[in-house]
Amino acid sequence: MASGRACILCGSTEQSILYRERGQQTHRTIEYRISEPIGRARHGTIVKCNVCGLVFLEELPHDGQRAYRELSDPEYHSENESRTQIFKQLLSSIESDHFPHNSGARKLLDIGCATGTLLRVASEHGWIASGVEPSRWAVDMIEAPLRENVFLGTFEDTSFPDDTFDLVVLWETLEHIEDPSATLRKASRILRPGGIIVINIPNIESFWSHLLRDRWWLVEQMHYYYFEPRTIRQLLENSGFSVISIKPFKKTFSLGYLIQKLRDVPVISDFSRSAHVMSKPGRFNVSFNSGQMVVFAYVSQDRMSCQTRVL
Ligand SMILES: [Zn+2]
Repeated sequence: MASGRACILCGSTEQSILYRERGQQTHRTIEYRISEPIGRARHGTIVKCNVCGLVFLEELPHDGQRAYRELSDPEYHSENESRTQIFKQLLSSIESDHFPHNSGARKLLDIGCATGTLLRVASEHGWIASGVEPSRWAVDMIEAPLRENVFLGTFEDTSFPDDTFDLVVLWETLEHIEDPSATLRKASRILRPGGIIVINIPNIESFWSHLLRDRWWLVEQMHYYYFEPRTIRQLLENSGFSVISIKPFKKTFSLGYLIQKLRDVPVISDFSRSAHVMSKPGRFNVSFNSGQMVVFAYVSQDRMSCQTRVL
């Protein structure tokens, strides 16, 4: 079937329905939360491009940007300790793999920085950390000195000079953006030559995605795009990047949070109920591959020619 929205990867309008919409309340104002109840999340109709295989929301919401501005989610902030550990490990590996020589203060931009956990960890690691975040609630949660370097709004509205940053991070962000192609092209401009981009996104070809289909916890109304290794690689190459690696990501949760979340999934609810009996949740952290992937790429030498390429 044909749809009105052109694929951002290949330009085709020929698409097939992958998952029909579920629980959408079209006459109500949409409301976003970061922590959706898994297995029961609402979502719009999700289609797959017949030409390149990119999976995306058939129609972008009319007031998605307003919903992001008004987003608040105390449950998200309660997992801050787990997130701190994740970002410490991430930065340590980036520093040793990509910035082995300490050559003065390096600059990091976290697009979709939420409540500022990565900004805090990065500044503790000696980075000059800046962020972009549309939610006023999230920005107000950021500690005062770090908040000065946070732009309240969308990345599209920022005006960073070219060649500013050594590292751009899109952690659980790119799937929320209306035009990820434009975002990546702009990211490649504001990165210095050889600069690194790190992206954490759901992998629609992951084990849990195939098993749970539209009950997979990463299928939800706030996610506009569902990449897999092949499609994110192509989008990055179209945007002036060369891919270094694409790997599954193990997320660290507190055990109590994970059990509470898993209990909502029909397929594994029995297991999680028995796990609840055997454990004292809340005190332990567990790593769990929930179907996300982490992508590393660097700005390629021919980025200027890539930016002028027309789909
Ligand atoms: Zn396509």
